[in-house]
Amino acid sequence: MATYEYRCEACKKSFTLIQKISEHGKTKVTCPKCKSEKVKQQISSFLIKTSRKS
Ligand SMILES: [Zn+2]
Repeated sequence: MATYEYRCEACKKSFTLIQKISEHGKTKVTCPKCKSEKVKQQISSFLIKTSRKS
């Protein structure tokens, strides 16, 4: 299982979805708020956080 972040283009709501890696990209993702299929996957924040330390 992995978590994927999506953002709905219709209502601008961001949401997180837990999917099996095998299901990712195969199942249709819909917005939990407005049921729109116009969702875009966001790059997960943990991937952005690299070795930069402040
Ligand atoms: Zn929506």
